[in-house]
Amino acid sequence: MNIAIIAHDGKKAEMIQFLMDYKAILAQKNIHLTATGTTGEKAEKAGFLVKKVLSGPMGGDAQIAAKLAEGKIDLVIFFRDPLEKHPHEPDIFTLMRLCDVHNIPLATNPATAELLIKAI
Ligand code: PGA
Repeated sequence: MNIAIIAHDGKKAEMIQFLMDYKAILAQKNIHLTATGTTGEKAEKAGFLVKKVLSGPMGGDAQIAAKLAEGKIDLVIFFRDPLEKHPHEPDIFTLMRLCDVHNIPLATNPATAELLIKAI
């Protein structure tokens, strides 16, 4: 199971808290985490093994979108900050659109992510 994790700056603390809360599941050998650069660094500091792509604004969301389109991502946990503007809005939109194109589960907040993680 390949899970992509992405968190905007205002949501990174929530993401790390989420990862810690579900470490027993997310640190299993059959779970592979891929993250945008800064989110990945923080997850590594929290003790997770993560494959990092570029930082989101530098193309990381687009890289994850491309992997998803190639069938290499099974689930996306993307804690967006709806109260901030993002220069890479088109990439964010692309990633979310491709989740729908390819029928990939996408959680954009901890409540939804919790339900998905409990289901795997
Ligand atoms: P970051 O990217 O993890 O490198 O901060 C997240 C984003 O802004 O999409």
